[in-house]
Amino acid sequence: MGDLSEYRRRRDPRRTPEPIPAGDELPRGDDDVFVIQEHHASSLHWDVRLERDGVLASWAVPKGLPKEPDVSRLAVHTEDHPLEYATFHGEIPAGEYGAGTMTIWDHGRYETLHWNDHLVEVVFHGERAQGRYAFVNMHGDDNAWQVKRAEPAAEGWEELPPFVRPMSARPGKLPEESADDEWAYEFDWDGQRAIVRVQGGRATLFDETATEITHTYPELRAIGGQLGSTEALLDGEIVAFEQGLPNRAALGRRQSAAPAQAKRLVTAHPVMYLPYDLLHLDGASRLREPYLRRRELLAELGLTGPNWQVPEHYVGDGDAVLRAAETHGLAGIVAKRADSEYRPGKRSPGWIAVATKKTAGPQDYV
Ligand code: MN
Repeated sequence: MGDLSEYRRRRDPRRTPEPIPAGDELPRGDDDVFVIQEHHASSLHWDVRLERDGVLASWAVPKGLPKEPDVSRLAVHTEDHPLEYATFHGEIPAGEYGAGTMTIWDHGRYETLHWNDHLVEVVFHGERAQGRYAFVNMHGDDNAWQVKRAEPAAEGWEELPPFVRPMSARPGKLPEESADDEWAYEFDWDGQRAIVRVQGGRATLFDETATEITHTYPELRAIGGQLGSTEALLDGEIVAFEQGLPNRAALGRRQSAAPAQAKRLVTAHPVMYLPYDLLHLDGASRLREPYLRRRELLAELGLTGPNWQVPEHYVGDGDAVLRAAETHGLAGIVAKRADSEYRPGKRSPGWIAVATKKTAGPQDYV
């Protein structure tokens, strides 16, 4: 039989909008309803709840359900929740247990294959949660469980690669005017190239040599929370703006800071991440897709935050974009062929770095 005493002990019905059934009598269903809530609490996690014996047996999974069978993820067993919780979404006020925003990530039916104190094996039939999963109680700790996918990944699912070497531009001139509309143009931000990998709501940052730089830029970690369970590999640049212009010296101070200083420098020299390409998205490599399609998918992610923003790209009118870059005192622009594939680690003719007249020579667009 489920037990709601711990659930009630942690909550004050006058302070939280969460459902708190008054009586001790619990509704009893068919043990086949599940809900998964995305919970942006002090630390992002997904609450997986399975109807069982009149309550929702619950696990908090910090990175969500894995998509591939070879990954075990932590699943912290939490107190039983009332069945009414299966439809709960909303804002738990600051200061209350579980304070933060809760949304329903998925809900639906599930089947039970095994259920005991050590192993709970189920099949999810949801929209997003699908297939067979095993929750395994780790030895010696009642609350620490692990969850893994107990069948192969969905058909066609491609694993998120650990890293992809960035493509770079060749220094050169604007494309011929007759070909202008086959090209898109972006400003050259002259920043630090960075690949951002998001999985399980966590962002990991790498420089162009695959060295991890996550701890250098603490203000960019929240990109992970914004993407939630969306798996993505972004390519872009980290830029320190001062008076509206990219400032190499300020960026340099951030790049060379010791880990202990990194947090303090966030206030003095905050950075922006400007993602301008999307290399992998939700189980599919996007490298072979044309540039404009990758840009479309990137726009659909709706990435915008205090320290990140998808920079504009302009199709055609390279000359005007170059003049605008000059007016704004930028190093140059990058012309990208609208139909070009992404070529990892290559300096491809599909991307051309065009310097503004104010700079001594073409910038090395790494
Ligand atoms: Mn939670």
